Amino acid sequence: MDPFKSGNLEPRRTVCIFACGVLWLVAVTVASGETPWRQVPLQDVQIKGEMGRRIDVTIENNILQIDISRDFLAPFQSRNQKGGYVGLGKLLDSIVRLAVHTGDPRLRELKDQIIREILATQEEDGYIGIMEPSSRMWSLWDIHEMSYLVYALATDHHFFGTEDSLQAARRLADYIISNWEAHPDNQPGGGSITVYMAVTGLENAFLLLSEEANDSRYKDFVVNFRKLPEWQARIVVGRHGQIEGHIYAYLCRSIAQLRLDDQQFDPRLWQASRQALDFLLHREGMVITGECGDHECWHDSQSGTINLGETCATAYLIRWLDELLRREKKSLYGDIMERVIYNGLFAAQSPDGRRIRYYPPFDGPRSYFSSDTYCCPNNYRRIVAELAGMVGYQTEQGVAINLYTAGQLKLRLPGGQVATITQRTDYPHDGVITLTVSLAQPEAFELRLRIPRYCEEASVKLPDQSEAVVVKGGDWAIFSRTWKDGDEVVLTIPMKLRLVRGRRAQSGRVAVMYGPLVFCLSRQAHADLKDVDLRLITLNPETLEGPFRDEAVHPGGLACRVKAWAPGAWYPHAPTNYTLKLTEFADPTGEATYFHVPNPYDPAFVEDELIVPTKDGSP
Ligand SMILES: [Zn+2]
Repeated sequence: MDPFKSGNLEPRRTVCIFACGVLWLVAVTVASGETPWRQVPLQDVQIKGEMGRRIDVTIENNILQIDISRDFLAPFQSRNQKGGYVGLGKLLDSIVRLAVHTGDPRLRELKDQIIREILATQEEDGYIGIMEPSSRMWSLWDIHEMSYLVYALATDHHFFGTEDSLQAARRLADYIISNWEAHPDNQPGGGSITVYMAVTGLENAFLLLSEEANDSRYKDFVVNFRKLPEWQARIVVGRHGQIEGHIYAYLCRSIAQLRLDDQQFDPRLWQASRQALDFLLHREGMVITGECGDHECWHDSQSGTINLGETCATAYLIRWLDELLRREKKSLYGDIMERVIYNGLFAAQSPDGRRIRYYPPFDGPRSYFSSDTYCCPNNYRRIVAELAGMVGYQTEQGVAINLYTAGQLKLRLPGGQVATITQRTDYPHDGVITLTVSLAQPEAFELRLRIPRYCEEASVKLPDQSEAVVVKGGDWAIFSRTWKDGDEVVLTIPMKLRLVRGRRAQSGRVAVMYGPLVFCLSRQAHADLKDVDLRLITLNPETLEGPFRDEAVHPGGLACRVKAWAPGAWYPHAPTNYTLKLTEFADPTGEATYFHVPNPYDPAFVEDELIVPTKDGSP
């Protein structure tokens, strides 16, 4: 079901596993020309745990509660605006995918109803949008809005085979092509921002439409007219000029380049992704919560205040990491994915699912976005709708488990039969994951498990073996054997609280982590912190204890406890003033994440493992 298949470039590399104290070298060849790993189809994945709960509340308390007729459809029926943005295509795309993933008839009916209403507004010339005639195409954000409608309608055709959706998408795309080719020098937004930011989403929409319609015209427009392979991408820090540093636009286009590279080998299509990886991992572009950017744009100060991590950038970061992982097959991308999902992403939504944030800062109070429309709420819904596809992948030789979460995957093995892999776990609140294989006939295949970088080594208990195998952190553990029905694998990832050193603006300070979870401090949960500047509190690291169960943020959640000195206290000899409870970063009342400590060079503190290069210097 994955529309983006075939092709890959990757040097040969070797993956090591340690088994029973003996080093086994397993040569894994990932050579050019091999296909990317494929997502397990959305309908074949069940997710429970906190990730599943987030999907559920996004459906029940958000998508099924918002006023789609008034807020989303009415502007398309009136078509009288001079500018603006709704995000109807993004909303539709999320509902189509969630309808596939859950099989929920309410979502299927909802997406069909929205499509009927959208198609009823399509004009003779193919236009679907919110603008008055004189503002079409060149006012912000008309092409952006149309592009996501093309994408969503093509997605509907992809999953449901709906011919009406495909024809409407083609007519709308033809409208864009004919108008742009007639005025090739026109700039959407009149040059106030870069063209590529103004038309974000166009390339992916047209590439998908080409596949769905089996018509290369849309791809040719992206390649030859929009010149996707020739994009001179560069990392611009800050928001200024034509806003060249816009992360969402950058990563969205980078994804389109990777997808195009599957069809036409061109090393230029990897340049933007390589630069972004270097900036995020080696030049302070990513913060501890997995978020990136300030005020929507690349940033490297590590300050984490008001405008940290636009939710659109967070959503596209996760999607881009999935695309990179499936092509380059590096477990690091999965490590970053789980960091950003459990922290930056889930902090962008109220725990009950109803409200969504534009920015979830780690320093200072957070606020919700005022509307259900616009970019961030809809890109949030879209990425939540896609998470199911990122749990596990179908590889050349079997299956790779990327995200640990209670649930089930049904996938086709290389030999052709369908296997079910069930995960029983409370991860990330606990490091024990039990995987059970169900299949009709015994079959030899390769099972890969992502062993996160935050642990030095983990253990895996295989069926029929008396002793657990030790595997190293920061790589895939690979098990090739003949599996039979009922085989059980128990992965134990050692997890303990760790204090992670801050960098740049957080120099001399530490954050508390447990596995991929970052903890934060809520002022509201502590009456004695009412008027205290939280940045001036000093933690006593020796008193850190936990984690323990705490349901303040979500069912089954975790918290930890630590004592701290008030601003100006004569530490370390004065008695501490506070006992602080730190909650998961998704705590909507969280206000502080990094804390001052008496000895910033305490050898017990660790560096952020996602940022530290491996021994061979690669990210
Ligand atoms: Zn946004």
